[in-house]
Amino acid sequence: MSLLALQTELADELETIRASGRWRELRAAQSPPTVTFVREDRTWLNFSSNDYLGLATHPRLIAAAQTATAAWGVGATASRLICGTLTLHSALETALVDFKVGGQPGYRALLFNSGYHANLALLATLAGAGDVIFSDALNHASLIDGCRLSRATVVVYRHNDVDDLRAKLAEHPRARRKLIVTEAVFSMDGDVAPLDELLALAEAFGAWVVLDEAHATGVLGPHGRGLAATVASADHPLITMGTLSKALGSFGAFVVAPEVVIELLTNRARPFIFTTALPPAPVAAALEAVCLLQESDQLVRMLRANIVEMATALGLPPTWPTPIFPVVLGSEQAVMYAMQTLQDAGFYVVGIRPPTVPPGASRLRLTVTAAHTEAQIGAVAKAIRAICRPPA
Ligand SMILES: *Cc1c(COP(=O)(O)O)cnc(C)c1O
Repeated sequence: MSLLALQTELADELETIRASGRWRELRAAQSPPTVTFVREDRTWLNFSSNDYLGLATHPRLIAAAQTATAAWGVGATASRLICGTLTLHSALETALVDFKVGGQPGYRALLFNSGYHANLALLATLAGAGDVIFSDALNHASLIDGCRLSRATVVVYRHNDVDDLRAKLAEHPRARRKLIVTEAVFSMDGDVAPLDELLALAEAFGAWVVLDEAHATGVLGPHGRGLAATVASADHPLITMGTLSKALGSFGAFVVAPEVVIELLTNRARPFIFTTALPPAPVAAALEAVCLLQESDQLVRMLRANIVEMATALGLPPTWPTPIFPVVLGSEQAVMYAMQTLQDAGFYVVGIRPPTVPPGASRLRLTVTAAHTEAQIGAVAKAIRAICRPPA
């Protein structure tokens, strides 16, 4: 096939994307994307990062990555099951069990190369044909892809709707295995799963809960231990995953679960087995991040203060639970216009469009971090209120 033929063949598909207002392209930052950063030779005030605690450029994490690189090199050289497991990986896994479940006996952790890998691995390993996965309607694409890869029957329940979930669980009494799968903090809506009620339903229907703590780790719970750390029920086994790449500032991900789950993942999970182990630098940096959070909850408290600040400035209740603020505008075009207006004023706020969110639910998604100042939060909130105010 000639290049021309290839271009002709793909042109229609690309034109459809452009026409739908869903076109995406990459633009490179010229400095680290912290609260202020440079791109296209302009300085931006950033409200789009998941670096909730500002750890991605923290001196202690940088030093840990440098020390680990000097001692261990830049690559892990092979998969975990060949010769890629280093004492650094084991140390981080132990620290994560301490951090997430207080070192509860019987629990272990396993690292993955990303949250995306971890979710594919978890769902495809724990569920198969004959099983039923009950999945929240707003679950992240990695959970949806994990459901597909598992070949289990997938039943989608209405977002955070416990009654709908109960009714759907009742419709599948004969399923071999039942998994309830949810995000702890929903990445595009910033709301929180009703974990207590989900656990009670799991108990009643003999199901397991798989909890994605990507945006809850480092954010919710004492010292940022996550949503699972805030529920009383210690009886029900919890299978949680989280990423090292958001509030923990590094890269990679983990599952913390009862030992049998970890053993099964180690033996069966293709996204774990058939990929090179995480390199030393991000592992050491993540370990430093966990140590830092165990030592002090100062950054988590600063983040909470800024969440209250942003919620108040946007006219939301000060009890808003997370650093994610959706401003739903509806159409792709409305969002692109609002985003452009904000960007012209130097605010880096991204628009989120389908397929990331359902059609008609396009939105601005703002995030606030521990590193923002009161003045910065006030300025963006004022600009947003000006755009969103209905015409008089
Ligand atoms: C970001 C995210 C992931 C993927 O994590 P990565 O480490 O970035 O691959 C998984 N689940 C949710 C809810 C996320 O927001």
